[in-house]
Amino acid sequence: MDDSQDAPVETLVDRMRDKLLSLKREILQHLAEEDTMARGVLGNLDPKDMADVATEDMDRKTLETLGAQEVRRLNLIQSALARIETGHYGACMRCGSRLPDERLEALPYALFCVPCQSAEERRNR
Ligand SMILES: [Zn+2]
Repeated sequence: MDDSQDAPVETLVDRMRDKLLSLKREILQHLAEEDTMARGVLGNLDPKDMADVATEDMDRKTLETLGAQEVRRLNLIQSALARIETGHYGACMRCGSRLPDERLEALPYALFCVPCQSAEERRNR
């Protein structure tokens, strides 16, 4: 009766990975719409393949046509995905403390805990 044991357990990290990948796709989609060259490169690809191709094959100029905000988000998303791969996802990059699940739910590409984030923002101002 209870067959839930066979169902794969979806962890927070799995869900965040999905979120990050779809955010990344959204940004790349936007890029493809804005940049004719990018459209040429990405036009023949499945949206699911697009994410893999884009950051490797797209030249820096193309990325520069994105708003600075989007480039920054894309970089954060890339970092977060890399940290998922290495098993460091969810730990603050500055102090190493574990980020609360709510923070990750709200901002899947958060790399710092709230106090460190404000400290970083003050530093970069
Ligand atoms: Zn921290």
